[in-house]
Amino acid sequence: MTNVKSVSTSHKSRPTSLYEGANLSAAHLEEVPSWGGASSGISYVYRPSTIESLYELLMLARRSGRTVGLRGGGNSYGDAAMNSENIVVDICRMNRILEWDPRTGVIRVEPGVTLAQLWQYVLEDGWWPPIATGTSFTTMGGSAAMNVHGKNAFKMGPIGDHILEFDLMLASGETITCNREENRDVFFAAIGGFGMLGIFTSLTIQMKHIYSGLLDVESEARGDLAGMFAYFDEYAADSDYIVGWIDSLAGGRHTGRGDVHRANYLAEGVDPNPAQTLRLENQHLGPNLFGVVPRSIMWLFMRPMMRNWGLRFVNQGKYLAGSFTGVKRYRQPHVQFHFLLDYIPDWKKAYEPGGLIQYQPFIPKENAYDAFSEILTLCQRRGLPNYLTVLKRHRPDDFLMTYAVDGFSMAMDFRVTNENRQRIVWMTRELDEIVLHAGGRFYFAKDSVLRPEVAEAYLGADTIARFRTLKHRCDPDGLLETDLWRRVFGD
Ligand SMILES: Cc1cc2nc3c(=O)[nH]c(=O)nc-3n(C[C@H](O)[C@H](O)[C@H](O)COP(=O)(O)OP(=O)(O)OC[C@H]3O[C@@H](n4cnc5c(N)ncnc54)[C@H](O)[C@@H]3O)c2cc1C
Repeated sequence: MTNVKSVSTSHKSRPTSLYEGANLSAAHLEEVPSWGGASSGISYVYRPSTIESLYELLMLARRSGRTVGLRGGGNSYGDAAMNSENIVVDICRMNRILEWDPRTGVIRVEPGVTLAQLWQYVLEDGWWPPIATGTSFTTMGGSAAMNVHGKNAFKMGPIGDHILEFDLMLASGETITCNREENRDVFFAAIGGFGMLGIFTSLTIQMKHIYSGLLDVESEARGDLAGMFAYFDEYAADSDYIVGWIDSLAGGRHTGRGDVHRANYLAEGVDPNPAQTLRLENQHLGPNLFGVVPRSIMWLFMRPMMRNWGLRFVNQGKYLAGSFTGVKRYRQPHVQFHFLLDYIPDWKKAYEPGGLIQYQPFIPKENAYDAFSEILTLCQRRGLPNYLTVLKRHRPDDFLMTYAVDGFSMAMDFRVTNENRQRIVWMTRELDEIVLHAGGRFYFAKDSVLRPEVAEAYLGADTIARFRTLKHRCDPDGLLETDLWRRVFGD
């Protein structure tokens, strides 16, 4: 392996070190939930703030015979950032901006820097993160490990396409630098490698230049799935972002109907006052929704609606309102367009006590219409419609464990209860068959149900073997593990 940075051993000469010589302490035991809240485990949780303490934690894990699972913001829906009965290293406190060049838009950050921190740091200089996930609580380390995408995936690909370089601490404690030339194979496998090859300790990312704090947004209702797909075909070439929200409870000839939103950056000179629109204050929503309801209690209003009848009512109302008003055009701050869900704090509490799981298949464009029609119909037939359904367009990428296709993804949130938990699992097995038959793929960030044979079917035995070879090279003793790894790739 080239360009190995020797691990800083300066801690050895320091009078005290946090974990050196220490044993695992029960005081660090915590419950670690999946983001969706449908599962949880007990782990020894540590939150290092420096590279030296990260290194010491790897040594502590070796001494205690436990594995290490990494955790960023904990926004993966399933068990990707859980490591039950072992060590969880939460990197959120390693959240410093290391370098920023406002002339080139290149930023180097520690892995715990969140998307919210990032946009707030670069916005007033006229830059915006190239990829924005549906929540801004994600960290850059967690985003790179999953190779996340935004509503511009069809145009900008995943975040890996904008990462110029990263430093990766291997299980041995050595740190290597990876980019498209040095350690190229690790670069293309650690991005999207769900924390199994090493720990990102810094990431260099290219931001996107913008000329206004506002986006030109257009929304429109479409009466069926064919109409939704046609919208993407018609507008993808002229749009920076497109996202569809499907009413998953509509059936028959209305199957797949919904609203589509597209947005474009404002060209240079269009915004008469960019210095104002690029200010942070002008991005945020106020504390109240509709001017009266405090956002902090919105989830309480959502809770009674989290039933099939409730969502039927809400979806129908939303669709009818959209079709009544026709095409709507307006300008909206970037933050409001991207992170609307963040503005209802704790909205997932509406799914308590059972929580939710997400299922997001990615299907090549030729087969997407048939496969998604079949999936929506099957969910209704099984009495398990999903409550939030998001349609996106994607393009392929070069990362080893990629989920992307030249096609579409449909993210579906299922409410879990004691009564339906097993039925959901059985149904996802039926859905897996539809997805595999259509040549589709799956996404570890959203997954809770993937089985080894399904992973092998879509990734291919050869890809998995290449990933295992790299894992063996970067982590020969298998120190880095998560519940997801054991579930899908465990020996
Ligand atoms: C409301 C909501 C909306 C979302 N919208 C989108 C979306 O639009 N597009 C999308 O792609 N995803 C989306 N996601 C999923 C989310 O972006 C991913 O799960 C992302 O990985 C979460 O980042 P995190 O910092 O919370 O990482 P975590 O969930 O904590 O961890 C993710 C993975 O990264 C690994 N990891 C964490 N830190 C490091 C590190 N320093 N080095 C190596 N590995 C590490 C973990 O082990 C784990 O495997 C959404 C999630 C939510 C809750």
